[in-house]
Amino acid sequence: DAGAGVGAGAGVDVAGVRERGAPLIEVSHVSKSFGDHQVIRDVSATFCAGEVAVIVGASGSGKSTFLRMLNRLERHDAGRILIDGIEVSDERQKLDALRQEVGMVFQQFNLFSHLSVLDNLTLAPRRIRGLSRQEANERAMALLTRVGLEAHAHKFPHALSGGQQQRVAIARALAMQPRVMLFDEPTSALDPEMVKEVLDVMRQLADSGMTMLVVTHEMGFAREVADRVMFFDEGRIAFEASPEEFFACRHDNARVKAFLSRVM
Ligand code: ADP
Ligand code: MG
Repeated sequence: DAGAGVGAGAGVDVAGVRERGAPLIEVSHVSKSFGDHQVIRDVSATFCAGEVAVIVGASGSGKSTFLRMLNRLERHDAGRILIDGIEVSDERQKLDALRQEVGMVFQQFNLFSHLSVLDNLTLAPRRIRGLSRQEANERAMALLTRVGLEAHAHKFPHALSGGQQQRVAIARALAMQPRVMLFDEPTSALDPEMVKEVLDVMRQLADSGMTMLVVTHEMGFAREVADRVMFFDEGRIAFEASPEEFFACRHDNARVKAFLSRVM
């Protein structure tokens, strides 16, 4: 299929409601400081295969640090993180395995500017997964078709709009066939008219069963796509709920209410 094996998650049932699979990410009692500043405070959370969690919270509350610890872009000081049974640590073998399981998409796209779109997608699969050029090209073209950019395969990133670049970044991450996708404010750097095309790709990915953790200020996306909304406050998961409950404001968490009144 054109998905090239992407979406190795829990699948979608006939009613279009995502099923939840087995625990895939287990975070237990994790803390992290930068110098004297503790930015993650004893966080525990479990994410299941096929789950879409949206993470919200004020700037500086630790959302990016939390995501970055999951693929070892930041080290945790205490606690334990397991992804698909792999302990997140500095051990080279585990780190290589982890980086193949976890794809990440950043606010600033971070494409390789000196490589064509196609080569952006084929570099890691060839070097790390050992795919032949032909296999990597086929997988890349299938993914570019999926994100609506097959006609742009031979362009360089600077020739594309921000929305197109971010869709390439998503396709590039998917080319490694990760089991988990992390998104850190993927639409925050985009002009408003380009936000939808990126959210649409993310929504399709969620429907395909991908396990996703998404930091975003797009409350419409959270409401429609998330299975769970988590509110970070000063390095803690201060509140989490289904989108219905989170946005209904029937709960009495004053900080969530204050947050919602700012972003809605
Ligand atoms: P968010 O993504 O919710 O805005 P971050 O995880 O980026 O929050 O940051 C949490 C806190 O950690 C902030 O106070 C930030 O200044 C600090 N911080 C983040 N990265 C670093 C770093 N590399 N060195 C020092 N402080 C950092
Ligand atoms: Mg951030």
